[in-house]
Amino acid sequence: MYCVFLPIDGGASASWRDRLEGSCEEGASLARHTSYHVGGPAKYLVVPATVADVREVLGAGEETFVMGAGSNVLVADAGFDGVVLKVCNALAQLSILEREVVAGAGRRLPSLVQSCAEMGLSGLEWAVGIPGTVGGAVCTNAGAFGSSLWECVEFVEGVSAGGEVFRLTPAEATYGYRHASLPVAEPFVLTEVGLRLTPSDPERVGELTAAHRARREETQPTAAFTAGSVFKNPPEGPSAGELIDTAGLKGRRRGEAVVSEKHANFIVNQGGARARDLYDLIVEVREEVRARHGVTLELEIELVGDFEAT
Ligand SMILES: Cc1cc2nc3c(=O)[nH]c(=O)nc-3n(C[C@H](O)[C@H](O)[C@H](O)COP(=O)(O)OP(=O)(O)OC[C@H]3O[C@@H](n4cnc5c(N)ncnc54)[C@H](O)[C@@H]3O)c2cc1C
Repeated sequence: MYCVFLPIDGGASASWRDRLEGSCEEGASLARHTSYHVGGPAKYLVVPATVADVREVLGAGEETFVMGAGSNVLVADAGFDGVVLKVCNALAQLSILEREVVAGAGRRLPSLVQSCAEMGLSGLEWAVGIPGTVGGAVCTNAGAFGSSLWECVEFVEGVSAGGEVFRLTPAEATYGYRHASLPVAEPFVLTEVGLRLTPSDPERVGELTAAHRARREETQPTAAFTAGSVFKNPPEGPSAGELIDTAGLKGRRRGEAVVSEKHANFIVNQGGARARDLYDLIVEVREEVRARHGVTLELEIELVGDFEAT
């Protein structure tokens, strides 16, 4: 690991927003920024243009939530009383040199998967159809079809809460099934990720990617407003989806929040659900699975904001 300490100049409390090159919106609805299409306002929604912007926000003294594409979060109807720093389609640079890929943390996975397929680089085919960013995928150790992102990570780079620019290798991180943690002060912001892939035949990579996409479309409600799987699979025994299905919960609803008929571990916002409806349905599903199967499911999605306030 290396760390470079760059002092953060917080400055006058109101002025950090004026120094941003990117955008800062006050009171922006987070429903427009999450794949569930729910969530109340953020005090400030910042889309950084540069790493310097990231450092401005981290030095502002505001409570901060770092968001990628918002595809693994459920944001409360009350919103988030702080800064939401949205690193999606910003800091999204990409360089591919032979088998070494360096992607900005805000680059969307589908775009990265496509670029790798075109270059004949194998190793990320499984990620097609995961709508998150590279940074979000690192933080959640996103995975599918028996593979996960950290298997090909070479390094991650970012800025810690204290303003230190860090670069870490996998040996310095802790990661496993749908989680990763880094030995740096939180909240940290990932800015760049290095990946090592395997040179292959572009046609073969394209075919494998298409097969994964087709499998996903067959088994998941890919076009609906969801955040993917709600619960993690238990370490052993039936999957979360099987437990929910055999508890008879497919089609269970709260308002316009519904347990998907296609994949029981997906809860769909049919358009008019509130975060509260989704949350209440998640609690109900968890309780019924516990009562029926004696298994307590752990959330895979992350709750953001105060769910007691509404
Ligand atoms: C249709 C659908 C299918 C899905 N399929 C899968 C699947 O097969 N496998 C799977 O693993 N997931 C899946 N997901 C869930 C989700 O897409 C992944 O977890 C994804 O990796 C989240 O990325 P994100 O950018 O949306 O992160 P967000 O949801 O915005 O954030 C997730 C976490 O990462 C942190 N974070 C995000 N970006 C940064 C950054 N730059 N720096 C620091 N912290 C950051 C956030 O603080 C938060 O803790 C699916 C979701 C949908 C909607």
